[in-house]
Amino acid sequence: MMVALVQAGTAATSRVTAALQGFGLAARSVRFGERTAMIIDTDSPDVQEAVAGIDGVEKVSVTRDSYPLASRAVIGHDTVVRFGTGAATVEIGGKSPVLIAGPCSVENEDMLLSTARLVADTGGTMLRGGAFKPRTSPYSFQGLGVKALELLALARQKTGLPVVTEVMTPEQVPLVARYADILQIGARNMQNFPLLQEAGQAGRPVLLKRGPGATVQEWLSAAEYVLLQGNPQVILCERGIRTFETSTRHTLDLSSAVLAKELSHLPVIVDPSHATGRRDLVPAMAVAAIAAGLDGVMVEVHPDPDRALSDGPQSLTFESFARMAQTLARVAEAAGRPLEKKPLFAAAS
Ligand code: PEP
Ligand code: MN
Repeated sequence: MMVALVQAGTAATSRVTAALQGFGLAARSVRFGERTAMIIDTDSPDVQEAVAGIDGVEKVSVTRDSYPLASRAVIGHDTVVRFGTGAATVEIGGKSPVLIAGPCSVENEDMLLSTARLVADTGGTMLRGGAFKPRTSPYSFQGLGVKALELLALARQKTGLPVVTEVMTPEQVPLVARYADILQIGARNMQNFPLLQEAGQAGRPVLLKRGPGATVQEWLSAAEYVLLQGNPQVILCERGIRTFETSTRHTLDLSSAVLAKELSHLPVIVDPSHATGRRDLVPAMAVAAIAAGLDGVMVEVHPDPDRALSDGPQSLTFESFARMAQTLARVAEAAGRPLEKKPLFAAAS
């Protein structure tokens, strides 16, 4: 596979197309801001040399990766996912790691608003909360749907925190994109290709969870589906894989998260809640992710975890969340990437 990065909005892309025709080749073109990525199904040195010599062509890479647009070998710099405006601008993959937190599911207004206030006061960057829930059993709570999206919008308005929530089907994408700042693709849907394509066209950043049985290569190839829609705003999220171990819900594959950041230019965050399934293990794994240089963590927190309608055992209490946020702030500082916002209140409050 060959990728030519070409100055967008110039005649350069036409010149490349014409040169490729001479070799009997055609390119798939994807616009990323100032540049157009032209993907060519060849690794011929002759083609590479010819394309590299064309005016307006910045770089031509040959890669064996099945995910050229996600590949660091092709796009040589860290992608910073940026959204919001003015003081409310959020950056993921920039100089500070992000702390994303909230309940597994949006259950009602009170619990969402109290959790959102906690997250805002404790240095959180974003609020999470499920509206459409992918539950193993069809008899389990399936989420409040549109009502939950409205409550997330209310929580955003009251706290200023942007929100991330899962979208489960291609048909739901326009609806969820009206309310959410980031579209979450759940682990079970990592290879739902029509969903990835639709989400890639929604004009919102996409948070792509790794499937519990997916290799790093499959995960990055799934990201490629979104990138190929011309949406460079993808965040990768490691959330545990299935192993022989049954004492934790999944196994947090921290090494693969670090590897994904090496192989790809995309930001990588870690979800220690779904990875461990146990609230006692969440703070240590969150700290490990930040210390490992990853771009943030996403955790579940609930005002009364024992009564949560989903994922109570892995949901932090308010107190343990506040304590964890303090520790994360110190670790991030020590790692030379201080959190954007300092936790406002002390562990005991
Ligand atoms: C979630 O974050 O709400 C969720 C369902 O996670 P996952 O897709 O990783 O299981
Ligand atoms: Mn959950």
